[in-house]
Amino acid sequence: MKTVDRHKVIRGKPIAGGIVLGTSRVVLPGETQVTEVAVPNAALAAEIKSLELAVKETVSELDDLRESAIKKMGGPAAKIFEAQLMIAQDEEFLGQVKKDIKSKKLNAAFIYNEHIKRATAPLKKSADSYIRQMALDIEAVASRIISHLSGKTRKNHIIPPNTVLIGKSFTPGEILSYRRQKVIGFVVAEGGPDSHMGLIARALYLPVVISKDLNLSKLQSGQAIILDAIEGKVILAPTPEEISDYQQRRKRMGPALITRIKHLKDIPPKTRDGVEIPVAGNMTLPGPAEEIMAEKNIPIGLYRSEFLYLAGGTFPDEDTQFEHYEQVARKFAGSSVVIRTFDLGYDKMSADEAWPHEENPALGWRGIRPMLEMKSLFKDQIRAILRASSRKNLKILLPMISDISEYDQAKRLIAQVKFELKKKRLQFDENIPIGIMVEVPSTVLIADSLFPKVDFLSIGTNDLTQYILAADRKNAKVAGLYSPFHPAVLRMIKMTVDKAKIYGKPVSVCGEMAGDILALPFFIGLKIDLLSMSPNRIVDLCRTVKKIDSSLVQPLVHSVLASSSTSSVIKRLESFKNAIGSRRQKGNHFE
Ligand code: PEP
Ligand code: MG
Repeated sequence: MKTVDRHKVIRGKPIAGGIVLGTSRVVLPGETQVTEVAVPNAALAAEIKSLELAVKETVSELDDLRESAIKKMGGPAAKIFEAQLMIAQDEEFLGQVKKDIKSKKLNAAFIYNEHIKRATAPLKKSADSYIRQMALDIEAVASRIISHLSGKTRKNHIIPPNTVLIGKSFTPGEILSYRRQKVIGFVVAEGGPDSHMGLIARALYLPVVISKDLNLSKLQSGQAIILDAIEGKVILAPTPEEISDYQQRRKRMGPALITRIKHLKDIPPKTRDGVEIPVAGNMTLPGPAEEIMAEKNIPIGLYRSEFLYLAGGTFPDEDTQFEHYEQVARKFAGSSVVIRTFDLGYDKMSADEAWPHEENPALGWRGIRPMLEMKSLFKDQIRAILRASSRKNLKILLPMISDISEYDQAKRLIAQVKFELKKKRLQFDENIPIGIMVEVPSTVLIADSLFPKVDFLSIGTNDLTQYILAADRKNAKVAGLYSPFHPAVLRMIKMTVDKAKIYGKPVSVCGEMAGDILALPFFIGLKIDLLSMSPNRIVDLCRTVKKIDSSLVQPLVHSVLASSSTSSVIKRLESFKNAIGSRRQKGNHFE
């Protein structure tokens, strides 16, 4: 590892734990860094030819993307690429670039970039979101053309081993593809612990630190870097002492948290007074955690199937999906797996994905909504799940249901698929349970009409929190407001559980809060049927369950529900947590 120039420590918050030592690489979003190079007279014609070639390559890439968008999502999504194709082939613009290359005798990439900057600057300032989007489209095209000109296309852009990427934020798809390129960690300016970036990074055991003090334009690539995503610290150009200290710390970190699951004795864990608290794991990507969970008969309470899309960048076909679902059903034959249908959109997508740009994607085309429009893709997935269901250990979970009509429509499509499979005499679980995610407040408020229809409920506290509090889960600026411990969130969880119990429907929690030991006595008090969490939370949670006396949690539940602020909820839960296992738990210390 290189130890060079300016020593700098950046403070931040860890959103996916771990410590790594590597080399920095700064990723500037939407900006293309192009250097100016003089071109001799004799090479000017070749420079113009290379621009023409870069345009041709870009047009062919965009054509491919448009084709696949049409196949995958139909007309509206393909329009993005149609607009970009028009920009790439704008003859008048290209003519001016060529003229300047000749007169200024400078490289094509530099001149092209200068023209783009001039063209987009006024558009970016527009109050009209459509015009601002046009600027983004132009930049997306420019970055492709410039990448081709500099021989650094996305595909062959090589990232050296042991790289720690520093950028504004990364989508789950980008994290996956960088992991394939052996990136070892991330430092970001935006995102929260419950953002999808955080979830995928934790699933891949990649450390991430988020820092509001990240000034990307002042940071250098190629510097030695220590990423401490335990304490939330980033050290650039560390001293030899710091390097050796962190090398020691890494050694002391011992076996990964999940391997400790193997040593758990009682699953499900029991409280001090013998009440079983069923636990499950959330599965984002297949990996060692699932092997260990299967071995210990810990069910999967949430299989985020959309990562099959994100890992491959395309919708897997029915047979490919069937293989995945069949494999997981076989592996978890002794327990069960809740497969959530594709939950795409919002921060799971990157800008160059074949997905419509939205002004406000958190409130847009995400979850069940696109799937009900892309009916054949939804039916492919249902068919694949049903075909893998003959062991009767699979359940279907529908994401982001906000209205009864969405559930009815999804149910009708599932019924159609069942009918088709029966006609073909294929084996499947005819009574496969169909549940819904509770992550939009409207779902809870229409519980009396919706809950009787469903087989089970799963509370997604990550989204439920952002929609109750109107605080984007990935926006660091409102991270102070975003808290599942806000009394309004706790009250809505309580309403959900009460209604679920009235209608006799099992109710679980599968948001990140399920694995938070601070929330555990609250969930025990509500008599939640299942807590499904990131696998690396299971060990601590199971150990904490044993220390809690379930007969003593009711006053705590009442007091947090009656609290008026997040801070007073946290104070009460913390004082309970500090007291568990000790004699103090027996008193009303939390009052
Ligand atoms: C949630 O919103 O709590 C949830 C579990 O779904 P995701 O985090 O995948 O949006
Ligand atoms: Mg969600």
